[in-house]
Amino acid sequence: MIVVMKTDTPNLEVQRIIEELQSESITPEKIVGKHKVIIGLVGDTATLNPEHLQQLSPFIEKVMRVDKPFKRASLEFRHGEPTEVSVTTPNGVVVFGQNHPLVTIAGPCSVENEAMIVETAQLVKAAGAQFLRGGAYKPRTSPYSFQGHGETALELLAAAREATGLGIITEVMDTADLEKVASVADIIQIGARNMQNFSLLKKVGNQDKPVFLKRGMASTIEDWLMAAEYIMAAGNPNVILCERGIRTFDRKYTRNTLDLAAIPVLRTLTHLPIAIDPSHGTGKSEYVPTMAKAAIAAGADSLMIEVHPNPAKALSDGPQSLNPRQYKVLMQEIAVIEKVFETDDQKLSLPTGTSVSTAQALPKAQLTM
Ligand code: PEP
Ligand code: MN
Repeated sequence: MIVVMKTDTPNLEVQRIIEELQSESITPEKIVGKHKVIIGLVGDTATLNPEHLQQLSPFIEKVMRVDKPFKRASLEFRHGEPTEVSVTTPNGVVVFGQNHPLVTIAGPCSVENEAMIVETAQLVKAAGAQFLRGGAYKPRTSPYSFQGHGETALELLAAAREATGLGIITEVMDTADLEKVASVADIIQIGARNMQNFSLLKKVGNQDKPVFLKRGMASTIEDWLMAAEYIMAAGNPNVILCERGIRTFDRKYTRNTLDLAAIPVLRTLTHLPIAIDPSHGTGKSEYVPTMAKAAIAAGADSLMIEVHPNPAKALSDGPQSLNPRQYKVLMQEIAVIEKVFETDDQKLSLPTGTSVSTAQALPKAQLTM
């Protein structure tokens, strides 16, 4: 249930209502949006009567029930206002969100050695990426496949961050590694295979780093939003949803089926930012650019793309990785596509410290730095 306050309600009045609604079974939560303040009520709200609540204060605009199983993740919970996930990287603040320029994340599936990760970081940065991805702990189907270099790889990611100023995103697979991963990562990835690892979701919800939540390969949109709800219920509102392809009956020509329809569907259900991973989504590098561009047309807020300096020699996911030259070409095409689909809000959203004249000279993919 949500209580929407009228514009200009005094803070003390909001506080008074929160205290009045606080009980053993209900936790009121203050949500300050750009235009409205909302009090979200999560818990046993079945016994509450919206008409009675409305009488609590003349400053209450309306009281509404959220009839979805996901509450904090629901569009209603923020009264339709998109969430902005701001991440501070050495190069500046990058914002994931509907009214902001596309955020691009690129890098190898796995961190293999220092030279390759630093070189890849430099190349994807030069092409316009804001984040470097790279797996330290790899969820592999076979126990005999390369499992990632673990803690050593985290140190190499830190070196690449230092060398380029790019933000780092890397996966945590085990609650035992969370602290180590969070000490290096600017964003923590929960992989498709762990989307319903509820103890892991609670743990990442109970720390401050934003979470990049990949959709489980056999998960419905509702399962996925309930996974986001676990993270948010544990206290972390900074969740980015990432569609990375789902399993369908046809796996002969693509590794997964990239569900781009999830973008417009999610827009009707949630305020959370949406990323698309066309690399795992297709499993083939030749299809990645097409689906990346389609994702922008469909309204994605961010793209995650696997890039390897020599895909033929990659220790994991080589067939779906672009080489740096292919990535550079794609980024140039992306800048054009982005312009076509740019909204008025995105046009107005300039990165802190960027002057209008510099911004106009930059491709959009570089504008959030
Ligand atoms: C990855 O990003 O390399 C990865 C393993 O992703 P997913 O969990 O989507 O398979
Ligand atoms: Mn991969």
